[in-house]
Amino acid sequence: MQNNKLLFGSTIGIIGGGQLGRMMTTAAKHMGYSVVVLDPTPNCPTAQVADDQIVAAYDDMEAVQKLAEQSDVITYEFENVDLEAAQYLEARQLLPQGANSLRVTQDRELEKKAMVDSDQPVAPFAIVKSKSELEEAAQEIGYPSVAKTCRGGYDGKGQVKLTSADDLDPAVEMLENAGRVIVEKWVPFDKEISIIFTRTKDGNISYFPVAENKHREHILHATIAPAKVSDGVAEKAKEAAKAIAETIGVVGTFAIEMFVCGDEILINELAPRPHNSGHYTIEACSVSQFEQHIRAICNIPLAPVYFHGGAVMVNLLGKDVEPYVEKMEDYRVVAGHLHMYGKKENKPLRKMGHVTYIENDPWRVYQDLVEKNLIQEDK
Ligand code: AMP
Repeated sequence: MQNNKLLFGSTIGIIGGGQLGRMMTTAAKHMGYSVVVLDPTPNCPTAQVADDQIVAAYDDMEAVQKLAEQSDVITYEFENVDLEAAQYLEARQLLPQGANSLRVTQDRELEKKAMVDSDQPVAPFAIVKSKSELEEAAQEIGYPSVAKTCRGGYDGKGQVKLTSADDLDPAVEMLENAGRVIVEKWVPFDKEISIIFTRTKDGNISYFPVAENKHREHILHATIAPAKVSDGVAEKAKEAAKAIAETIGVVGTFAIEMFVCGDEILINELAPRPHNSGHYTIEACSVSQFEQHIRAICNIPLAPVYFHGGAVMVNLLGKDVEPYVEKMEDYRVVAGHLHMYGKKENKPLRKMGHVTYIENDPWRVYQDLVEKNLIQEDK
């Protein structure tokens, strides 16, 4: 089945029913596929636009089997898919992305190893398993540094910044709960960028323009494309993407987050799926990160990527929705493309939607949005 081209009329199964699954589904529906989603929350964001939902936990093997029976191909919208379920699907030729991308990206130790094996630059780091190893690593790497859990952290959760030896206690506590922690040099970066690309099982890769990311309280706040970086940095980002994709055997859309220091890059994090910093591709590119992903997993050729011009994407967290609605009549805001994810409950830090602004000079838009307080720069 995996070598066949899956055309319109086929059924795609998605594990995970949040906004990424929803936007994958919208792309798939445009292309004539049916979609069934596995998610424990009835009428989750993806289910609202899909054909069918299996309401069950992600690691419920009976539900995974049911999904397999209903689907011609299966994908996922988040990296913490149960590995046993992924291996089960891979063995049945239903998971073209394979289980390896998940295995690697579920664990910061394996992730770093993949970056190093691909000859890509990373910040100095050490993996530690005991209090004495942690103290030794912090001493050797120096301050400031950051301790991160190897598994399960996201959006700054599972991280402790170490500015001096006085900060070690919370890191030790984290280590005692997690068993294994990575200590990493704090990078005084100039900016953060990401590169999103899509790879077919034959190894063809298409890249989206390198984008620049602004975080607020450790959560992605805004993405500006193209990033304001030299051609050399953009080229290094692409080379890193290709090398890492080949090491891991990536299929589908994949994202790599990096720090830029002068003319150098340092790889920070990998995501084996479409990424929040690639939402701008929906309006700003000839093909979106979601449609390319569907093409790759259905084994049909990738579309060439043409960039229409500048883009600014701003996330709407729960706490941002009201201020945004209040400014909706503003000439700048009127021009934005609003995407809401259909989440029932608004929580201050929950990603409820995003807005994409398209203009030739995205930095002018960015400045405008800062002035209108629709973007708040991290101090
Ligand atoms: P992560 O979950 O590793 O992507 O970290 C979330 C955010 O924390 C990153 O996007 C950076 O803004 C910041 N961060 C993480 N690691 C480092 C580091 N070693 N040096 C500087 N900033 C970092």
